[in-house]
Amino acid sequence: MGALDAGCFEDGLQNRIGLEEEVEDMATAEAAKVVGGSEMDSESDAESTRSIEDAVRVLLQGLGEDHEREGLRRTPHRVAKAFRDGTRGYKEKVKDIVEGALFPEAGFETGIDHADGASGLVVVRDINLFSHCESCLLPFSIKCHIGYVPSRGRIVGLSKLSRVADVFAKRLQDPQRLANEICVALHDSVKPAGVSVALQCWHIQFPEERKCNFNTNSPISDLQGWVKVLVSSSSGIFKEEKSSFLDDFFSLLRLRGVVIEKGDTTRSHVSHWCPSRSLEIHLSNGHCLQISENDKASSKTTAPQTSMVAAVASILCCIGEDPSRKELLGTPSRYVQWLLNFKSSNSDFQLKDHSVCNMSSYGVTLTNGNVTSTNGIQLALNLPFCSQCEHHLLPFHGVVHIGYMSKQEGIDVERSALLTMVHFFACKLQVQERLTRQIAEAAYSIFSNGVMVVVEAYHNCMISRGIEKVGSNTATIAVLGQFSSDPKTKSLFFQAIAKNVDSGT
Ligand SMILES: [Zn+2]
Ligand SMILES: [Zn+2]
Repeated sequence: MGALDAGCFEDGLQNRIGLEEEVEDMATAEAAKVVGGSEMDSESDAESTRSIEDAVRVLLQGLGEDHEREGLRRTPHRVAKAFRDGTRGYKEKVKDIVEGALFPEAGFETGIDHADGASGLVVVRDINLFSHCESCLLPFSIKCHIGYVPSRGRIVGLSKLSRVADVFAKRLQDPQRLANEICVALHDSVKPAGVSVALQCWHIQFPEERKCNFNTNSPISDLQGWVKVLVSSSSGIFKEEKSSFLDDFFSLLRLRGVVIEKGDTTRSHVSHWCPSRSLEIHLSNGHCLQISENDKASSKTTAPQTSMVAAVASILCCIGEDPSRKELLGTPSRYVQWLLNFKSSNSDFQLKDHSVCNMSSYGVTLTNGNVTSTNGIQLALNLPFCSQCEHHLLPFHGVVHIGYMSKQEGIDVERSALLTMVHFFACKLQVQERLTRQIAEAAYSIFSNGVMVVVEAYHNCMISRGIEKVGSNTATIAVLGQFSSDPKTKSLFFQAIAKNVDSGT
């Protein structure tokens, strides 16, 4: 996508949406194949999909959005599909998967138990899974490693191990319970001498309240990174003191860079792995710029929030969960609080209203700030942000790089002012292309010689739908003024970003 050509931008957006629908429909077809089921099932499925869609409309209204607007019209449908697909494990039975996939190991048909022999450990590593956090309903990604020791010559098809793991991942989970459930299910269905399951899990960070603190010097990695935990669960021979199977399993994982120590993964280490559990959530709408009066007002008007919480509870029922289950009690309000970070402050927000004078209300100061300069290009690199994809109501987060040139020598802004501007545009339902363009245009209203913006982000919606692996990243770019007319200026900015990445800052 070149510069800020509106037509080109819209085309790109259309193509992207078209592609997404296609991939989504493929994913649903896959899910349908897995679930199978009768016409009765599909009728009640359609019914619960409609209920989830209604609930999502309530959520969008609660966020001050018009759910009929372009970009949001299909969101209830997408969110409902994502929830249903992401929780299809409630309908799947391990027995159906494992049955017929057990076969005798060649040479051991006689039924001799060789579990305590010198060999027998079977390990499948790096199974990519995705689950939903039961504390906040956001997706988290998993690398799953399974080891088992066959008993009585009974072997299970290796692909079935990941299928069984996926049954439990496709439910609302927390890492340790997921590991336990996979372990128990394999032990009960395959009846081996023992099973060991190790999971590496990644959960998105929440945008922190202190984003409103403009002078924060917190390391970027605080916001950029993921919450990671490592858990394991073992049964049978893996739990025996004198057995070396667990050591062997962990040694084989270490070859893949996964380091687990025995007794390292007790429950207490991960009891609050979900950031929503430790975050003291304010009833603010996430807009640092709408100071006190609005926030006070919004914390009083709890009615929309009550209906939003009820809507989320109804989604839990629709996917086959029990909202009164102990672990789920606070989940609807946590999910609503998460969404409220992205409440629309003004649905008629126009960029042209935020010209130079309004920029000064962002706290822009015309002093020499802590922004670096190279060859006349001012740089503000690695500004962290977290936004919410309006197509899937899922977060995307990453960093914004801004390069700009002002007409007057020596005119500059504080890095924190740019950070505030980034947060302003990020704290709403967004698409990355629009976020990039809005930041560029707002900056261009002050730095009229040229502005270039690069946004690098991880999208939970891509990750949760299995399109991309953990760690893949989406980049967008917007170019204005001298950056678009002079390729050399543009390439200087790219070099500065690359240098920044190299130096690891
Ligand atoms: Zn969570
Ligand atoms: Zn999305």
